Amino acid sequence: MSATVGENMVVTLHHTLKNDGGEVLDESNEEQPLLYLHGANNIVPGLEEALAGKAVGDKVEIIVPPEKGYGMPQKMKPVRLRRSELPEGMPVVRGQVLMMRGKDDRTVHLWITKVQGSDIVADMNHPLAGENLHFAVEVIDLRAASEDEMTHGHAHGPNGHGH
Ligand code: ZN
Repeated sequence: MSATVGENMVVTLHHTLKNDGGEVLDESNEEQPLLYLHGANNIVPGLEEALAGKAVGDKVEIIVPPEKGYGMPQKMKPVRLRRSELPEGMPVVRGQVLMMRGKDDRTVHLWITKVQGSDIVADMNHPLAGENLHFAVEVIDLRAASEDEMTHGHAHGPNGHGH
């Protein structure tokens, strides 16, 4: 019996992500594969579902619709911030994700869409909201998650969280 992708497994992947136009949006390389903890919402639901039950060496090609990807863009007012409101040392560039504490203490993700001097405009929509995600992935390693990883809800290691 060999291991397959399921709850509490750490999965190592090679992956390529393209949009409808065939443009490569994200790609892992030999030195830096993607590690994720299955069942912990580390990756988009559509890809996680497609990987369940797969084994090392399996390849998956899938088109994930927005409903199982990054959702549909919502009409929301852009958020305006000052550079001084952000943690020091954080890269302030377009596409950078910001995790802010919301009113009800929930974590809110914002993506920087514009930087003008010390004025920053951010949006609550993921940059890939509304897009079909064309994934080509290969499972290259599988192991059981450690207790720490299960508690933290993410994979540790060279290309996981470094702490
Ligand atoms: Zn951790």
